[in-house]
Amino acid sequence: MKQHIDTAPVWESYREDCECPLCLLQARVEASNVDYFLGESVMEPSQRVEVNKKGFCAAHFKMMYDAGNRLGLALMTHTYMKETISALQGNAEKARAAAAAEAGKPIFKRLGGSKGVGLSEAAQEVKGITQTCLMCERIRENVERYMYTVLYMYKHELEFPALFAQSKGMCLEHYAQALEMAPKHLSGDTLKKFVDTLTDIEMKNLERMSGELEWFTNKFDYRNQDKPWGNSRDAVKRCVNKLGHQVILED
Ligand SMILES: [Zn+2]
Ligand SMILES: [Zn+2]
Repeated sequence: MKQHIDTAPVWESYREDCECPLCLLQARVEASNVDYFLGESVMEPSQRVEVNKKGFCAAHFKMMYDAGNRLGLALMTHTYMKETISALQGNAEKARAAAAAEAGKPIFKRLGGSKGVGLSEAAQEVKGITQTCLMCERIRENVERYMYTVLYMYKHELEFPALFAQSKGMCLEHYAQALEMAPKHLSGDTLKKFVDTLTDIEMKNLERMSGELEWFTNKFDYRNQDKPWGNSRDAVKRCVNKLGHQVILED
């Protein structure tokens, strides 16, 4: 992977007290993408083409809706919608033809798995339209670059391994990504040390969080109601985020 390496945001997120520094970076990328797609990209023809081709997933449409710039969202959604309508013309014809063919079949030919195959294909095409998201794609690329930066820093920045060892591990999604990417960019003792440290802090912190979640449930026992919350007050949110797949619950 040869590209510009921007270590500053990674240093910054590793210096913050959080359960997954990569999620922190991801949330920042996501927020700047929401701004971008509601603002600058509206006027940018090449971006419009990309948006029209891929659209957005439910979560990212909601984020843009909640951001409040309804005109920006309307302009972008309008061209995306027009493009979608034209993509669906052929599909609608295919569905009508499939239904006519199916309706004309004698009953004994409509048994088993081949029943409604043509319509099912048309349905798959419609689903395909709803399953791509330009923002998810962008975020994935950015987070992958940040993960690469973490590995790069682990190898090249003298003070980073110590800071990494004090961190609280990662959410399971980013933990898996780190394990997968590590052998591609690290080798020998550095690889071993990275994975040893990562698995160590991951397991230790999952145990800690599990304890915090347990104390959260125990606080509902009237005998504990006057005891301090400790770190458990927001344990549900932190644990769900730690275990979740791109679930970012805010307060
Ligand atoms: Zn994460
Ligand atoms: Zn998305």
